[in-house]
Amino acid sequence: MKPVGINKMILVLLILAVYTVPGRTQISSSNRLMDNYDVKFYGLDITADNRSDRIGGSATILVEVLKGSFDTLVFDLHHSLKVEKVQVEGIKINFAHTGDQIYIALPAPVDSGDLISTEIFYGGQTGEGLVTETDQEWGMPVTYTSSEPFYSKDWFPCKQNLADKSDSVHVLISTDYGLMGVSNGLHTTTTFYPNGKVSYQWKSNYPIAYYLISIAVADYTEYTIEARPSGLSHPIIIQNFIYNLPGCLDTYKEKIDATIPMMELFCDLFGPYPHRGEKYGHYLWPRGGGMEHQTMTGMGNFEFYLVAHELGHSWFGNYVTCASWQDIWINEGFATYAGYLATENLAPEYADGERTYRFDRALREPDGSVYVPAQEADNDSRIFNSNLSYSKGMALLHMIRFELQDDKLFFGTLKNFLDAYGNGVATGLDFKEVLEETSGMDFTDFFDQWYFGYGYPVYSLNWEQHDEVLNLRSVQTGSSDLTPLFKMSMEYKIFYPGGDSTVRVFHQSREENYQFALSHSVDSVQVDPYNQVLNMVADSEENSVKKGSGANISISPNPNRGRFTFKLSDQMEGDISLVVFSASGQMVLNSRYEGCLPHLEYGVDLEEIGKGIFFVHFNDGKMVTVKKILVE
Ligand SMILES: [Zn+2]
Repeated sequence: MKPVGINKMILVLLILAVYTVPGRTQISSSNRLMDNYDVKFYGLDITADNRSDRIGGSATILVEVLKGSFDTLVFDLHHSLKVEKVQVEGIKINFAHTGDQIYIALPAPVDSGDLISTEIFYGGQTGEGLVTETDQEWGMPVTYTSSEPFYSKDWFPCKQNLADKSDSVHVLISTDYGLMGVSNGLHTTTTFYPNGKVSYQWKSNYPIAYYLISIAVADYTEYTIEARPSGLSHPIIIQNFIYNLPGCLDTYKEKIDATIPMMELFCDLFGPYPHRGEKYGHYLWPRGGGMEHQTMTGMGNFEFYLVAHELGHSWFGNYVTCASWQDIWINEGFATYAGYLATENLAPEYADGERTYRFDRALREPDGSVYVPAQEADNDSRIFNSNLSYSKGMALLHMIRFELQDDKLFFGTLKNFLDAYGNGVATGLDFKEVLEETSGMDFTDFFDQWYFGYGYPVYSLNWEQHDEVLNLRSVQTGSSDLTPLFKMSMEYKIFYPGGDSTVRVFHQSREENYQFALSHSVDSVQVDPYNQVLNMVADSEENSVKKGSGANISISPNPNRGRFTFKLSDQMEGDISLVVFSASGQMVLNSRYEGCLPHLEYGVDLEEIGKGIFFVHFNDGKMVTVKKILVE
């Protein structure tokens, strides 16, 4: 899912049973009785149009009993939907619709392993889950469903438990002539009736999580293309339903066609498209973002990142689904990284910008964690927090790749993870286990810091050079007190006249001192020059900002007698705050230069502070550049 700024601040009145083993949290069904069966099949027979969010129809649910003496079936169904009749194995039976659950007492207890088919006839509207809305851009009314995370029950009786994927789903949508109903899997038949009604049968035979089942009804027209991933004997159909309006296909065609190389790329990177026996698909809907309904994604537009993100969910989110909403990283962090990988491979000129954008978003949350805390596990605005679940989640995967330093291992890990958990659910720790088995490395600290921990590291840097040895002193604090130390790899780029060198070190403790043999006279040092790690560089104790490039500012003369000028390169302009520290870390000057322009010289006067080595921190609000000067 890609949030569009709609905060559904709806309290979910489910009493979720939570086992509090950290990171192993499994959310059971909303009612323990629902853990006594396994959903095998949903068959929906639904009447809907694009004028009203009223729905009517029946749901057939086939379950396998998991416990002996089973006597009560319980399904989730919103209290506003009216249940007219319930049949078990074709026989009408009593039921109670209490709160958001329907209880069906079986005439006689059933054995473990038995199958039970229940048909529930219902109708009504809830205002959530199934919505009718007019697309403002096109003036097209659309009825669509949006069930993640807790809203499937708003339009069909189901079991809202992530771990219990249905083995298959069939959806029959009846509507008016002139409208088209779309859903998961393959469109098998269209039936026209003399009363002006038409029905569309859709069938999917892949395991599917409850919230990925969807319908949409509008005046759609079909545009189908094919991808041909290497190693697959048949093409993958990409079926697109766009509004049947002049200009609509022309508007989106080129961007839709970009799905082809993305599909082929992801098959290479992640392994075969999981639903290759059916299709991939898109349909337009009036929402700004997308939703990865399995094999049939709802799209507000066809922008590159959105198409890639939603397609990435086919592997991460749909094929492997988060085991609990606290582990939404498995869906959103991975799909956001898939969007980045599409950029890296198909539009590399935008890759650095996309990564920087994501990192910047993650840096807005100095106290946030990727793992959703237990107390917020049913708060959907926290689950889908874009800065944390998406951007910081994306950054975690990039940093794992940075730690591995081996793309074969990284993508091998992704494939092994998909092989191990495909068609099922996984937690962040399940991924860690596969990562460790594949790489032979220990990621315990990494997950404690980055997955369960809060914020990111803030580095402050000093250096001095004696006898061709550069001494680099790096002190780390956490942006959050809860995670004071991030043990991990870091790169430093050392600039000297006529060149630079990049060194890679491993930060094991809060303060690290490194020594490098270097005959050149060092001019500046840049932290994390290729933006591989989520971090900031300290400017002063109160203020921390992002790391910067040493090449953006020049100082002259250096050494000097306490007076020098600085000059900005093309990449920098605007207000500059300038702070000077002594070699022992004491602040000796703090001043501000407003409206600085590139290539002009600005004077600084340090005459009264005495001789020695000083570090000048230039901060333009986006980054800090640290320069060393010698006052003689
Ligand atoms: Zn998503």
